[in-house]
Amino acid sequence: MEIIEIKSYPVWIGSRNQLLVKVETNEGIYGWGESGFSGRELAVSGVIDHYKEWLVGRDPMRRGSLWQEMYRSQYFEGGRTLTAAISAIDLALHDIVGKKLGVPVYELLGGKHRDVVPVFATTPGPYGPEMLDQAKEFMERGITAFRLSYDAMDINSGGVFEPRESIANSAEWLIKARETLGNQAVLGIDYHHRLNVAETASFCQMLPRHTLDFLEEPIRDETPEAYEALRRMTDVPFAIGEEFASKWQFLPYIERGITNYARVDVCNVGGFTEAMKVAGWAEAHYIDLMPHNPLGPICTAASVHLGAAVPNFSWLEVNLQRADKPEFDVFSEQITLEGNSYPVPNRPGLGIEVDETALMTEFKFWEPPHPHRRDGTHTNW
Ligand SMILES: [Mg+2]
Repeated sequence: MEIIEIKSYPVWIGSRNQLLVKVETNEGIYGWGESGFSGRELAVSGVIDHYKEWLVGRDPMRRGSLWQEMYRSQYFEGGRTLTAAISAIDLALHDIVGKKLGVPVYELLGGKHRDVVPVFATTPGPYGPEMLDQAKEFMERGITAFRLSYDAMDINSGGVFEPRESIANSAEWLIKARETLGNQAVLGIDYHHRLNVAETASFCQMLPRHTLDFLEEPIRDETPEAYEALRRMTDVPFAIGEEFASKWQFLPYIERGITNYARVDVCNVGGFTEAMKVAGWAEAHYIDLMPHNPLGPICTAASVHLGAAVPNFSWLEVNLQRADKPEFDVFSEQITLEGNSYPVPNRPGLGIEVDETALMTEFKFWEPPHPHRRDGTHTNW
């Protein structure tokens, strides 16, 4: 079998751009992948064009070897842009191999550990009674793990984010949430790297013990030593890793015990080939995967196969607003949420079908908000 074509589709679907990748073979078998480098999709599409130059004519069955060649075939190896492209191609190659062998992708990853993959959801509303009602609704549908809205102030209009005001308000509503929802609920919050070490420590000190079950990415991740310093100042578990673009970026976080949930993203880390290595490494340190899954149905399907194939797994992220309205006009075959989990599909490959004619919509340039403090300095989106 030979690869004969690689197409990338950076297209606007629903309310956002997605970068989908299709790899075609001379046997008529094809596979789909998705890139996770949201917001800069055209850069990844350019990388895929470079890889296509030499991937055409290659054997897709040799996916592990092709991963190495993609990662190491340029002088400037690694980095999020390159690995996002490698991720999409690696997922598509696994889809092809599964279809060729007539088995679902989880069989290629070691076989099934579970029949359903449980999810965690995020309350969409702002802090207030509405957020607590949304959390209660989640629990009524059986979803017991969730992230609560973080206090974004008017950040979603590209506006102001003031850390002190945010952590004070967050603490107040998180304490109310724990009192209201009880100890059965798993409560987390994602701070999108918007705090510094001292602010995060103050925030954690505002919370009575066992208010939070996990704190996701309170500070930026370039410096593991900063997280180690923070680790000494709080015992709240950390959930880190959605932007990591290789096992090497996970290395200090796993080996030094500074992440407690690995937020691996199959569309960023390097596809299944790299995610399975992170999973084994995390297993050795008794760390569960809590995969990042903010993209489209291909990312979800890939994450479900990953979740099925590893023993150390907590919950898969789900966007309920999108999961409750599957886009069947684009993804005619996909994995749909049932209650509080995704059933593990048994179709060969990923279990995804895409209507290519629905991908003829134009790419739309879109900028995430550029949040700032009142003094004008910038912080992270
Ligand atoms: Mg996050």
